[in-house]
Amino acid sequence: DQHAVEFHVDHAMGTVGAVAIDAEGDLFAGTSTGGTCCKHSGRVGDSPLIGCGCYADAQAGGVSCTGLGEAIMRVVLAKTAVEFLRAGKSAQETAQACTKLLFQRGRGTGGLILLDRNGVPGFSFNTSRMAFGYVSPDGSYVIEPHQ
Ligand code: ASP
Repeated sequence: DQHAVEFHVDHAMGTVGAVAIDAEGDLFAGTSTGGTCCKHSGRVGDSPLIGCGCYADAQAGGVSCTGLGEAIMRVVLAKTAVEFLRAGKSAQETAQACTKLLFQRGRGTGGLILLDRNGVPGFSFNTSRMAFGYVSPDGSYVIEPHQ
């Protein structure tokens, strides 16, 4: 309950995730980590675990997640999102179903960005704030919160 500044020095730079589709339709996903507060040194979070912090499958979609790693790992969030896409949910339906699952079954907060196999983006988060953006087919940049 007492989040003193010294608990935040190691993750002051935050986290960045990215998902891309190339001209051949191959999908790529990556997630960095800024770490999270009050964890033991050496803890392995969701970010380096394929299927948790990120996952990509050219037949379904690519996903990058962040938030409370233990909750993301509990529901294998990125792979779960890809399976929702494979089952026919839209990109945005998938993103929203994932943050609901993260909260209800994972018992945590976070968010995700994704592209389906056609390059359609989806985003959702259940934290107070998570910035995201994408390049639209016409080459323009869409950034939220709007700048
Ligand atoms: N998901 C990361 C972790 O729990 C934290 C973050 O980078 O936002 O390790």
